[in-house]
Amino acid sequence: MLAKNISTYTNMPFWLADTSLASKIHANARFEIPQKADAVIVGGGFTGISAAITLARAGLKVVLLEAGHLGEGASCRNGGLLGPSFSKLGVDGLERQYGRDNVHETIRESLVAFNWLVDFIKEEQIDCDLSLCGRFRGASHPSHYAGLIEQAEELAKVVDFPAIAVSRQDQFEEVGSNAYYGGVIYPTDGTLQPAKLHRGLCQIAQQAGVLMLEHTKVRDVSKQNAMYKVQYDGGVIDADQVIIATNGYTGGEFDKFKRRIIPIRSAMIATEELPESVIRSVSPKLRAHGGTERLVAYYRPSPDGKRILFGGRAFGRGDQPQLYSKYLQDFMIRTFPQLEEAKIDYAWSGYVAYTFDHVPHIGKMDDMHYAMGYCGSGVGRANYFGRKIAQQVLNQVEGKTSFDQFPFNTRPLYTGKPWFLPMIMKWHDFADRRGW
Ligand SMILES: Cc1cc2nc3c(=O)[nH]c(=O)nc-3n(C[C@H](O)[C@H](O)[C@H](O)COP(=O)(O)OP(=O)(O)OC[C@H]3O[C@@H](n4cnc5c(N)ncnc54)[C@H](O)[C@@H]3O)c2cc1C
Repeated sequence: MLAKNISTYTNMPFWLADTSLASKIHANARFEIPQKADAVIVGGGFTGISAAITLARAGLKVVLLEAGHLGEGASCRNGGLLGPSFSKLGVDGLERQYGRDNVHETIRESLVAFNWLVDFIKEEQIDCDLSLCGRFRGASHPSHYAGLIEQAEELAKVVDFPAIAVSRQDQFEEVGSNAYYGGVIYPTDGTLQPAKLHRGLCQIAQQAGVLMLEHTKVRDVSKQNAMYKVQYDGGVIDADQVIIATNGYTGGEFDKFKRRIIPIRSAMIATEELPESVIRSVSPKLRAHGGTERLVAYYRPSPDGKRILFGGRAFGRGDQPQLYSKYLQDFMIRTFPQLEEAKIDYAWSGYVAYTFDHVPHIGKMDDMHYAMGYCGSGVGRANYFGRKIAQQVLNQVEGKTSFDQFPFNTRPLYTGKPWFLPMIMKWHDFADRRGW
Protein backbone atom coordinates (compact mmCIF):
# COMPACT_ATOMS: atom_id res chain seq x y z
CA MET A 1 0.00 0.00 0.00
CA LEU A 2 1.35 3.43 -0.93
CA ALA A 3 0.99 6.82 0.75
CA LYS A 4 -2.06 8.81 -0.38
CA ASN A 5 -0.91 11.86 1.47
CA ILE A 6 2.19 13.46 0.01
CA SER A 7 2.70 15.81 2.92
CA THR A 8 4.45 19.13 3.15
CA TYR A 9 6.86 18.31 5.94
CA THR A 10 9.52 20.41 7.61
CA ASN A 11 13.04 19.22 6.83
CA MET A 12 14.49 19.22 10.34
CA PRO A 13 14.70 16.77 13.26
CA PHE A 14 11.39 16.64 15.10
CA TRP A 15 13.37 16.84 18.36
CA LEU A 16 14.59 20.36 17.62
CA ALA A 17 11.03 21.67 17.24
CA ASP A 18 11.02 21.87 21.06
CA THR A 19 11.75 25.59 21.25
CA SER A 20 12.70 25.44 24.94
CA LEU A 21 15.95 23.72 23.88
CA ALA A 22 17.36 26.80 22.16
CA SER A 23 17.91 28.70 25.40
CA LYS A 24 19.54 25.79 27.22
CA ILE A 25 23.15 26.34 26.10
CA HIS A 26 25.22 29.23 24.86
CA ALA A 27 28.39 28.25 23.07
CA ASN A 28 31.50 30.23 23.94
CA ALA A 29 32.82 32.97 21.66
CA ARG A 30 36.07 32.73 19.67
CA PHE A 31 37.88 35.33 21.77
CA GLU A 32 37.46 33.06 24.79
CA ILE A 33 39.62 30.31 23.27
CA PRO A 34 42.88 30.13 25.22
CA GLN A 35 46.22 29.58 23.46
CA LYS A 36 46.71 26.34 25.34
CA ALA A 37 44.39 23.68 26.79
CA ASP A 38 45.01 20.46 28.65
CA ALA A 39 42.73 18.67 26.20
CA VAL A 40 41.04 19.59 22.91
CA ILE A 41 38.05 17.54 21.80
CA VAL A 42 36.98 17.52 18.15
CA GLY A 43 33.21 17.00 17.70
CA GLY A 44 30.27 18.16 19.79
CA GLY A 45 28.04 15.06 19.80
CA PHE A 46 27.48 12.58 22.61
CA THR A 47 31.04 11.17 22.40
CA GLY A 48 32.71 14.57 22.58
CA ILE A 49 30.50 16.05 25.29
CA SER A 50 30.67 12.92 27.44
CA ALA A 51 34.48 12.89 27.19
CA ALA A 52 34.58 16.62 27.98
CA ILE A 53 32.51 16.18 31.15
CA THR A 54 34.79 13.41 32.44
CA LEU A 55 37.98 15.36 31.74
CA ALA A 56 36.72 18.66 33.13
CA ARG A 57 35.43 17.00 36.30
CA ALA A 58 38.91 15.54 36.75
CA GLY A 59 40.26 19.10 36.77
CA LEU A 60 41.51 19.47 33.16
CA LYS A 61 41.11 22.65 31.13
CA VAL A 62 39.03 21.37 28.19
CA VAL A 63 38.17 23.04 24.87
CA LEU A 64 35.63 21.36 22.57
CA LEU A 65 35.51 22.41 18.92
CA GLU A 66 32.46 21.66 16.76
CA ALA A 67 32.29 22.27 13.00
CA GLY A 68 28.56 23.06 12.98
CA HIS A 69 26.10 23.62 15.82
CA LEU A 70 26.63 21.59 18.99
CA GLY A 71 24.77 18.33 18.38
CA GLU A 72 24.44 18.98 14.65
CA GLY A 73 25.68 15.48 13.83
CA ALA A 74 23.77 12.29 14.60
CA SER A 75 23.34 13.02 18.31
CA CYS A 76 20.27 15.26 17.85
CA ARG A 77 18.98 13.37 14.80
CA ASN A 78 18.56 9.84 16.07
CA GLY A 79 15.47 7.88 17.05
CA GLY A 80 16.27 7.92 20.75
CA LEU A 81 15.99 4.13 21.03
CA LEU A 82 18.16 2.93 23.87
CA GLY A 83 19.41 -0.58 24.56
CA PRO A 84 22.60 -2.61 24.87
CA SER A 85 22.71 -3.08 21.06
CA PHE A 86 23.62 -6.77 21.16
CA SER A 87 22.16 -7.46 17.73
CA LYS A 88 24.57 -4.92 16.20
CA LEU A 89 27.61 -6.90 17.31
CA GLY A 90 28.47 -9.44 14.60
CA VAL A 91 28.91 -12.04 17.35
CA ASP A 92 29.55 -15.13 15.19
CA GLY A 93 32.23 -13.45 13.09
CA LEU A 94 33.88 -11.92 16.14
CA GLU A 95 33.92 -15.25 17.99
CA ARG A 96 35.73 -16.92 15.08
CA GLN A 97 38.36 -14.19 15.12
CA TYR A 98 38.81 -13.34 18.80
CA GLY A 99 37.49 -16.34 20.70
CA ARG A 100 34.33 -16.87 22.69
CA ASP A 101 35.41 -15.58 26.05
CA ASN A 102 36.62 -12.26 24.71
CA VAL A 103 33.42 -11.71 22.78
CA HIS A 104 31.27 -12.67 25.76
CA GLU A 105 33.08 -10.00 27.71
CA THR A 106 32.04 -7.38 25.13
CA ILE A 107 28.44 -8.60 25.34
CA ARG A 108 28.47 -8.17 29.12
CA GLU A 109 30.10 -4.77 28.79
CA SER A 110 27.40 -3.67 26.32
CA LEU A 111 24.87 -4.15 29.10
CA VAL A 112 27.12 -2.28 31.53
CA ALA A 113 27.23 0.63 29.04
CA PHE A 114 23.45 0.76 28.77
CA ASN A 115 22.94 0.59 32.55
CA TRP A 116 25.64 3.22 33.09
CA LEU A 117 23.86 5.76 30.89
CA VAL A 118 20.47 5.11 32.51
CA ASP A 119 22.03 5.61 35.97
CA PHE A 120 23.92 8.72 34.84
CA ILE A 121 20.74 10.33 33.48
CA LYS A 122 18.96 9.61 36.76
CA GLU A 123 21.81 10.74 39.02
CA GLU A 124 22.35 13.96 37.08
CA GLN A 125 18.59 14.47 36.82
CA ILE A 126 18.76 15.11 33.07
CA ASP A 127 15.27 15.88 31.80
CA CYS A 128 15.24 13.87 28.54
CA ASP A 129 11.97 11.89 28.62
CA LEU A 130 13.77 8.66 29.47
CA SER A 131 11.24 5.82 29.49
CA LEU A 132 12.23 2.20 30.09
CA CYS A 133 9.26 1.12 28.01
CA GLY A 134 10.74 -2.02 26.46
CA ARG A 135 11.20 -2.93 22.80
CA PHE A 136 9.34 -5.33 20.54
CA ARG A 137 11.40 -6.87 17.75
CA GLY A 138 9.17 -8.56 15.23
CA ALA A 139 10.09 -11.46 12.93
CA SER A 140 9.67 -9.95 9.47
CA HIS A 141 9.57 -13.42 7.88
CA PRO A 142 8.18 -16.72 9.26
CA SER A 143 11.65 -18.26 9.27
CA HIS A 144 13.07 -15.46 11.46
CA TYR A 145 10.99 -16.20 14.57
CA ALA A 146 12.99 -19.26 15.63
CA GLY A 147 16.22 -17.34 15.09
CA LEU A 148 15.05 -14.51 17.35
CA ILE A 149 14.25 -16.94 20.14
CA GLU A 150 17.52 -18.80 19.70
CA GLN A 151 19.42 -15.52 19.82
CA ALA A 152 17.67 -14.55 23.08
CA GLU A 153 18.45 -17.99 24.59
CA GLU A 154 22.12 -17.73 23.61
CA LEU A 155 22.34 -14.24 25.13
CA ALA A 156 20.72 -15.44 28.35
CA LYS A 157 23.66 -17.86 28.81
CA VAL A 158 26.07 -14.92 28.79
CA VAL A 159 24.28 -11.99 30.32
CA ASP A 160 21.27 -11.25 32.51
CA PHE A 161 19.09 -9.69 29.82
CA PRO A 162 15.43 -10.68 29.89
CA ALA A 163 13.55 -11.45 26.69
CA ILE A 164 9.97 -12.63 26.26
CA ALA A 165 8.86 -14.60 23.21
CA VAL A 166 5.55 -13.52 21.66
CA SER A 167 3.82 -15.78 19.14
CA ARG A 168 2.00 -14.43 16.08
CA GLN A 169 -1.35 -15.08 17.77
CA ASP A 170 -0.36 -12.95 20.77
CA GLN A 171 1.62 -10.27 19.02
CA PHE A 172 -1.37 -7.94 18.60
CA GLU A 173 -1.06 -7.05 22.28
CA GLU A 174 2.36 -5.65 21.34
CA VAL A 175 2.04 -4.33 17.81
CA GLY A 176 -0.94 -3.53 15.59
CA SER A 177 0.43 -5.08 12.43
CA ASN A 178 0.14 -8.24 10.35
CA ALA A 179 3.64 -7.71 9.04
CA TYR A 180 5.28 -9.85 11.72
CA TYR A 181 5.38 -13.57 12.44
CA GLY A 182 5.79 -13.32 16.18
CA GLY A 183 8.64 -11.57 17.93
CA VAL A 184 10.54 -10.98 21.13
CA ILE A 185 10.11 -8.27 23.78
CA TYR A 186 13.17 -6.88 25.49
CA PRO A 187 11.37 -5.35 28.48
CA THR A 188 14.32 -3.36 29.83
CA ASP A 189 15.13 -1.35 26.67
CA GLY A 190 13.99 2.25 26.51
CA THR A 191 13.52 5.49 24.63
CA LEU A 192 14.50 9.11 25.25
CA GLN A 193 14.46 12.53 23.59
CA PRO A 194 18.04 12.73 22.22
CA ALA A 195 18.21 16.51 21.78
CA LYS A 196 17.10 16.99 25.38
CA LEU A 197 19.77 14.53 26.52
CA HIS A 198 22.37 16.36 24.43
CA ARG A 199 21.38 19.77 25.83
CA GLY A 200 21.41 18.37 29.38
CA LEU A 201 24.92 17.03 28.82
CA CYS A 202 26.08 20.36 27.36
CA GLN A 203 24.79 22.14 30.46
CA ILE A 204 26.70 19.74 32.71
CA ALA A 205 29.84 20.25 30.59
CA GLN A 206 29.54 24.03 30.85
CA GLN A 207 29.04 23.83 34.59
CA ALA A 208 32.19 21.72 34.77
CA GLY A 209 34.09 24.49 32.94
CA VAL A 210 34.33 23.11 29.39
CA LEU A 211 34.72 25.78 26.68
CA MET A 212 32.53 24.77 23.73
CA LEU A 213 32.81 26.46 20.36
CA GLU A 214 30.46 26.10 17.41
CA HIS A 215 31.23 26.68 13.71
CA THR A 216 34.87 25.98 14.48
CA LYS A 217 36.01 23.23 12.16
CA VAL A 218 39.32 21.60 12.97
CA ARG A 219 41.52 21.48 9.86
CA ASP A 220 44.60 19.72 11.12
CA VAL A 221 46.21 18.20 14.19
CA SER A 222 49.98 17.79 14.33
CA LYS A 223 52.37 16.92 17.11
CA GLN A 224 55.49 18.95 17.81
CA ASN A 225 57.65 17.60 20.59
CA ALA A 226 55.15 16.55 23.21
CA MET A 227 52.54 19.17 22.28
CA TYR A 228 49.65 19.02 19.80
CA LYS A 229 48.90 21.94 17.51
CA VAL A 230 45.20 21.98 16.67
CA GLN A 231 44.44 24.20 13.69
CA TYR A 232 40.87 25.34 13.39
CA ASP A 233 39.22 27.84 11.06
CA GLY A 234 40.75 31.10 12.24
CA GLY A 235 43.35 29.98 14.73
CA VAL A 236 45.57 27.45 16.46
CA ILE A 237 45.43 26.03 19.96
CA ASP A 238 48.09 23.99 21.73
CA ALA A 239 46.97 20.94 23.69
CA ASP A 240 48.52 18.18 25.79
CA GLN A 241 45.87 15.70 24.60
CA VAL A 242 43.46 15.45 21.66
CA ILE A 243 40.32 13.34 21.30
CA ILE A 244 38.72 12.78 17.90
CA ALA A 245 34.95 12.35 18.32
CA THR A 246 33.70 12.87 14.77
CA ASN A 247 32.04 9.47 14.10
CA GLY A 248 29.99 9.46 10.83
CA TYR A 249 31.11 13.02 10.07
CA THR A 250 34.84 12.23 10.02
CA GLY A 251 36.39 14.15 7.11
CA GLY A 252 39.62 14.15 5.12
CA GLU A 253 41.37 16.18 7.83
CA PHE A 254 41.45 12.89 9.75
CA ASP A 255 42.17 10.72 6.77
CA LYS A 256 43.37 7.67 8.68
CA PHE A 257 40.13 7.60 10.68
CA LYS A 258 38.00 8.32 7.62
CA ARG A 259 39.46 5.24 5.91
CA ARG A 260 38.20 3.11 8.79
CA ILE A 261 34.64 4.46 8.93
CA ILE A 262 31.78 3.66 6.55
CA PRO A 263 29.41 6.65 6.74
CA ILE A 264 25.82 5.62 6.02
CA ARG A 265 22.97 8.10 5.74
CA SER A 266 20.01 7.15 7.88
CA ALA A 267 16.63 8.92 7.86
CA MET A 268 13.53 9.48 9.95
CA ILE A 269 10.00 10.84 9.58
CA ALA A 270 7.52 12.00 12.23
CA THR A 271 3.77 11.93 11.62
CA GLU A 272 1.38 14.69 12.50
CA GLU A 273 -0.29 14.47 15.93
CA LEU A 274 -2.72 11.55 15.89
CA PRO A 275 -5.56 10.44 18.20
CA GLU A 276 -4.44 8.25 21.09
CA SER A 277 -6.52 5.38 19.68
CA VAL A 278 -4.45 5.42 16.46
CA ILE A 279 -1.13 5.54 18.32
CA ARG A 280 -2.22 2.64 20.55
CA SER A 281 -3.38 0.71 17.48
CA VAL A 282 0.26 0.81 16.34
CA SER A 283 2.01 0.40 19.68
CA PRO A 284 -0.49 -0.68 22.37
CA LYS A 285 2.14 -0.41 25.12
CA LEU A 286 3.97 2.63 23.71
CA ARG A 287 7.19 0.67 23.28
CA ALA A 288 10.11 0.99 20.89
CA HIS A 289 9.85 -1.32 17.86
CA GLY A 290 11.78 -2.83 15.01
CA GLY A 291 11.88 -5.85 12.75
CA THR A 292 14.43 -8.39 11.58
CA GLU A 293 14.87 -6.93 8.09
CA ARG A 294 18.43 -6.42 6.91
CA LEU A 295 17.51 -2.89 5.80
CA VAL A 296 16.71 -1.83 9.31
CA ALA A 297 13.42 -0.07 10.11
CA TYR A 298 12.52 1.07 13.61
CA TYR A 299 9.79 3.18 15.13
CA ARG A 300 8.39 4.52 18.37
CA PRO A 301 5.79 6.95 19.65
CA SER A 302 6.99 10.48 20.44
CA PRO A 303 7.55 11.12 24.17
CA ASP A 304 4.12 12.79 24.47
CA GLY A 305 2.52 9.75 22.79
CA LYS A 306 1.02 11.84 19.97
CA ARG A 307 3.11 10.97 16.91
CA ILE A 308 4.79 7.96 15.38
CA LEU A 309 8.48 8.39 14.54
CA PHE A 310 9.66 5.98 11.87
CA GLY A 311 13.28 5.50 10.82
CA GLY A 312 15.23 3.57 8.22
CA ARG A 313 17.16 3.86 5.04
CA ALA A 314 17.94 7.13 3.24
CA PHE A 315 18.52 7.54 -0.49
CA GLY A 316 20.66 9.65 -2.76
CA ARG A 317 23.67 11.82 -2.16
CA GLY A 318 23.28 14.37 0.57
CA ASP A 319 20.04 15.01 2.42
CA GLN A 320 17.20 14.28 -0.04
CA PRO A 321 13.98 14.12 1.99
CA GLN A 322 11.85 13.99 -1.18
CA LEU A 323 13.33 10.50 -1.78
CA TYR A 324 13.54 8.99 1.70
CA SER A 325 10.36 10.45 3.22
CA LYS A 326 8.26 8.74 0.53
CA TYR A 327 10.14 5.44 0.99
CA LEU A 328 9.73 5.55 4.79
CA GLN A 329 6.07 6.59 4.58
CA ASP A 330 5.31 3.72 2.17
CA PHE A 331 7.17 1.29 4.46
CA MET A 332 5.23 2.61 7.47
CA ILE A 333 1.86 2.25 5.69
CA ARG A 334 2.69 -1.26 4.44
CA THR A 335 3.37 -2.19 8.06
CA PHE A 336 0.47 -0.15 9.51
CA PRO A 337 -2.35 0.44 7.00
CA GLN A 338 -4.15 2.36 9.79
CA LEU A 339 -1.60 5.20 9.21
CA GLU A 340 -2.60 5.62 5.57
CA GLU A 341 -4.17 9.03 6.18
CA ALA A 342 -1.47 10.29 8.57
CA LYS A 343 0.41 13.33 7.30
CA ILE A 344 4.16 13.62 7.76
CA ASP A 345 5.21 16.74 9.66
CA TYR A 346 9.00 16.24 9.86
CA ALA A 347 11.61 14.45 7.74
CA TRP A 348 15.35 14.47 8.35
CA SER A 349 18.52 12.42 8.03
CA GLY A 350 22.07 12.13 9.36
CA TYR A 351 25.18 9.96 9.17
CA VAL A 352 25.83 6.86 11.22
CA ALA A 353 29.30 5.28 11.23
CA TYR A 354 29.73 1.60 10.43
CA THR A 355 33.02 -0.24 10.72
CA PHE A 356 34.32 -3.21 8.77
CA ASP A 357 34.00 -5.56 11.75
CA HIS A 358 30.68 -4.15 13.08
CA VAL A 359 32.30 -3.16 16.38
CA PRO A 360 32.76 0.32 17.87
CA HIS A 361 36.42 1.31 18.21
CA ILE A 362 38.27 3.16 20.91
CA GLY A 363 41.96 3.82 21.52
CA LYS A 364 44.88 5.82 20.19
CA MET A 365 45.92 6.15 16.55
CA ASP A 366 48.47 8.55 15.06
CA ASP A 367 48.97 9.65 18.67
CA MET A 368 45.36 10.90 18.90
CA HIS A 369 42.75 9.39 21.18
CA TYR A 370 39.45 8.47 19.53
CA ALA A 371 36.13 6.71 20.02
CA MET A 372 33.79 6.07 17.08
CA GLY A 373 32.03 3.54 14.85
CA TYR A 374 28.85 2.76 16.78
CA CYS A 375 27.21 1.12 13.74
CA GLY A 376 23.91 2.98 14.09
CA SER A 377 23.49 2.27 17.80
CA GLY A 378 25.22 5.14 19.48
CA VAL A 379 22.96 6.78 22.05
CA GLY A 380 24.21 4.55 24.85
CA ARG A 381 27.52 3.59 23.29
CA ALA A 382 28.73 7.10 22.32
CA ASN A 383 28.11 8.38 25.83
CA TYR A 384 29.82 5.38 27.39
CA PHE A 385 32.81 5.35 25.03
CA GLY A 386 33.19 9.13 25.37
CA ARG A 387 33.62 8.58 29.09
CA LYS A 388 35.96 5.62 28.58
CA ILE A 389 38.28 7.46 26.19
CA ALA A 390 38.48 10.35 28.66
CA GLN A 391 39.42 7.87 31.39
CA GLN A 392 42.12 6.49 29.07
CA VAL A 393 43.45 10.03 28.58
CA LEU A 394 43.54 10.35 32.37
CA ASN A 395 45.40 7.02 32.60
CA GLN A 396 42.70 5.70 34.89
CA VAL A 397 42.29 1.97 35.23
CA GLU A 398 38.51 2.42 34.67
CA GLY A 399 39.35 3.42 31.10
CA LYS A 400 40.12 -0.17 30.23
CA THR A 401 37.42 -1.77 28.09
CA SER A 402 36.99 -5.14 26.43
CA PHE A 403 36.60 -3.23 23.16
CA ASP A 404 40.31 -2.26 23.37
CA GLN A 405 41.14 -5.67 21.93
CA PHE A 406 39.68 -5.08 18.45
CA PRO A 407 42.11 -3.60 15.91
CA PHE A 408 40.58 -0.67 13.99
CA ASN A 409 41.13 -1.94 10.46
CA THR A 410 40.38 -0.58 7.02
CA ARG A 411 40.31 -2.47 3.71
CA PRO A 412 42.78 -2.17 0.82
CA LEU A 413 41.97 0.77 -1.48
CA TYR A 414 39.15 2.06 0.74
CA THR A 415 39.40 5.86 0.95
CA GLY A 416 36.35 6.61 3.07
CA LYS A 417 33.87 6.80 0.18
CA PRO A 418 31.67 3.70 0.36
CA TRP A 419 31.16 3.21 -3.39
CA PHE A 420 30.05 -0.36 -2.68
CA LEU A 421 27.01 0.64 -0.57
CA PRO A 422 24.41 0.83 -3.37
CA MET A 423 25.27 -2.77 -4.34
CA ILE A 424 25.10 -3.97 -0.73
CA MET A 425 21.76 -2.17 -0.21
CA LYS A 426 20.37 -3.82 -3.36
CA TRP A 427 21.51 -7.20 -2.10
CA HIS A 428 19.90 -6.61 1.32
CA ASP A 429 16.69 -5.45 -0.36
CA PHE A 430 16.68 -8.61 -2.50
CA ALA A 431 17.35 -10.80 0.57
CA ASP A 432 14.63 -9.01 2.60
CA ARG A 433 12.06 -9.69 -0.10
CA ARG A 434 12.89 -13.39 0.15
CA GLY A 435 13.07 -13.40 3.93
CA TRP A 436 16.70 -14.53 4.05
C1 LIG B 1 18.68 9.12 11.64
C2 LIG B 1 19.47 8.44 12.75
C3 LIG B 1 18.81 7.63 13.66
C4 LIG B 1 19.51 7.00 14.71
N1 LIG B 1 18.81 6.31 15.64
C5 LIG B 1 19.47 5.80 16.72
C6 LIG B 1 18.74 5.20 17.77
O1 LIG B 1 17.50 5.20 17.77
N2 LIG B 1 19.44 4.67 18.80
C7 LIG B 1 20.81 4.71 18.86
O2 LIG B 1 21.40 4.20 19.82
N3 LIG B 1 21.53 5.34 17.88
C8 LIG B 1 20.90 5.89 16.83
N4 LIG B 1 21.61 6.57 15.88
C9 LIG B 1 23.08 6.66 16.01
C10 LIG B 1 23.54 7.71 17.04
O3 LIG B 1 22.82 8.91 16.87
C11 LIG B 1 25.04 7.98 16.87
O4 LIG B 1 25.74 6.76 16.94
C12 LIG B 1 25.60 8.91 17.95
O5 LIG B 1 24.84 10.08 18.04
C13 LIG B 1 27.06 9.24 17.63
O6 LIG B 1 27.48 10.30 18.48
P1 LIG B 1 28.90 10.99 18.20
O7 LIG B 1 29.04 12.07 19.19
O8 LIG B 1 29.96 9.97 18.16
O9 LIG B 1 28.78 11.56 16.73
P2 LIG B 1 27.90 12.83 16.12
O10 LIG B 1 26.77 13.12 17.03
O11 LIG B 1 27.64 12.49 14.74
O12 LIG B 1 28.94 14.00 16.30
C14 LIG B 1 30.11 14.14 15.52
C15 LIG B 1 30.36 15.63 15.40
O13 LIG B 1 31.67 15.87 14.91
C16 LIG B 1 31.63 17.10 14.21
N5 LIG B 1 32.83 17.20 13.36
C17 LIG B 1 33.20 16.42 12.33
N6 LIG B 1 34.38 16.84 11.83
C18 LIG B 1 34.77 17.90 12.57
C19 LIG B 1 35.91 18.76 12.53
N7 LIG B 1 36.88 18.60 11.61
N8 LIG B 1 35.99 19.78 13.43
C20 LIG B 1 35.02 19.96 14.36
N9 LIG B 1 33.92 19.16 14.44
C21 LIG B 1 33.79 18.14 13.55
C22 LIG B 1 30.34 17.00 13.43
O14 LIG B 1 29.89 18.29 12.99
C23 LIG B 1 29.41 16.34 14.43
O15 LIG B 1 28.63 17.27 15.14
C24 LIG B 1 20.93 7.19 14.82
C25 LIG B 1 21.59 8.02 13.89
C26 LIG B 1 20.88 8.65 12.88
C27 LIG B 1 21.61 9.54 11.90
